[in-house]
Amino acid sequence: SSPQVIRTSKKERSSCQLILEHFDHQYSEELGDLWASVRSVLLDPPSWQYGVLLNRFTVATDVKRVLLSKGFSTLLPQKEALTLPGALRTVFDADCQTAKGSLSKFPSDNSHLRLDNGSRAPIQQAQSEARSGPPSSPLQCYIHHFPLRFPSQAHRPGQLKQYYLLNAASLLPVLALQVQDGEKVLDLCAAPGGKAFAIMQCATPAFLCCNEPDRHRRDRLTKTLESFLPRSLSSRVAVSAQDGRSFGQSEAEIYDKVLVDAPCSNDRSWLFSSAGQQVEQRLKERGRLPRLQVQLLRSALSAVRPGGIVVYSTCTMSSSENFAVVEAVLKDCPEAEPEDLWEEIALPLSSYFTFSPAHRGLVPNTRSARPERGRVSSYDRRLGILVVPQPCKTWGPMFLSRLRKRK
Ligand code: SAM
Repeated sequence: SSPQVIRTSKKERSSCQLILEHFDHQYSEELGDLWASVRSVLLDPPSWQYGVLLNRFTVATDVKRVLLSKGFSTLLPQKEALTLPGALRTVFDADCQTAKGSLSKFPSDNSHLRLDNGSRAPIQQAQSEARSGPPSSPLQCYIHHFPLRFPSQAHRPGQLKQYYLLNAASLLPVLALQVQDGEKVLDLCAAPGGKAFAIMQCATPAFLCCNEPDRHRRDRLTKTLESFLPRSLSSRVAVSAQDGRSFGQSEAEIYDKVLVDAPCSNDRSWLFSSAGQQVEQRLKERGRLPRLQVQLLRSALSAVRPGGIVVYSTCTMSSSENFAVVEAVLKDCPEAEPEDLWEEIALPLSSYFTFSPAHRGLVPNTRSARPERGRVSSYDRRLGILVVPQPCKTWGPMFLSRLRKRK
């Protein structure tokens, strides 16, 4: 049957029926009862929440004040403000002055903030299952219970932007990476640069290599870095254009930390931006992605030093692009050891994010990670954790897994 675009309700943007049917088939199998509520969130863009990540390289006092007055609060308890190494301080201060100017245009009234739907039921206080509180972090991310839209900041030459709007779940892979000052870090699939920006909020690495093979996306990445990072950091942050699959060969065992935020079948955007032939194309591509993802993860494991860590992440719930990829790589990379993120990240943050308690999926073929149709198994959560969007906690989808290379 030919793909059709349907408008399911006035509130919903046009979603693609064929992609939705595909998701219904796959995710009712993999997520079970959870799929119905995930589906309702994915189909309701006005309910989606946005996080506001402040830029530590700017003076953002006014932005903070507006956020707090609108009822935003910080996602993570704040660690003390980061300081820059002495030699960088003077140059950074100059950059910071330039950034100050952009505050004057910031709206101090409510006009740019939209409370989505006055009739929406108040959100029930989420019951925290956390045994310990969320990890403290230098990441200053503000979130709101309601889907309030904070205005995005336009690019103005010579001025740094004060904040980045994002799905708060995309900070979790950066938290899992645990970047420390002075480390060498590789962001293997870096455009448009949201996680690279977040990494630079966490610490001052000796070197951050942001890799992106696609020319147009690389331009966006460069723009992001220019818009958010002071010039004084330019000697520490480089953009490269390699195919990530061969990176590990050309730069073997160089990096302390590697992030593989892999190309994936982005569940949110595919549901709304697929039309006509693109749908068939995307569904075919979906079948090919696990092979590419396995190759990227293997390459990352080659690029990391013994004892270093690799974080693999995607923004799909598809088990063949998540758990199955990690499982396939572990089968032929005995030097890689999965680390449990359930206790470290999922439990402490369970009042903000919903983590899928169990996950079922098609069993992959070891060499290619291509699913063998018809065989379904449950995955071990030590392979990774999955954030699934839920009403009033609409963050995700986001899968993350951490592998340490044995010494
Ligand atoms: N980390 C980014 C961020 O937070 O803004 C998002 C990364 S996006 C999910 C995946 C990126 O991988 C895309 O920009 C895509 O062009 C890139 N990509 C695709 N094939 C690749 C390959 N073979 N090697 C490296 N990157 C690749």
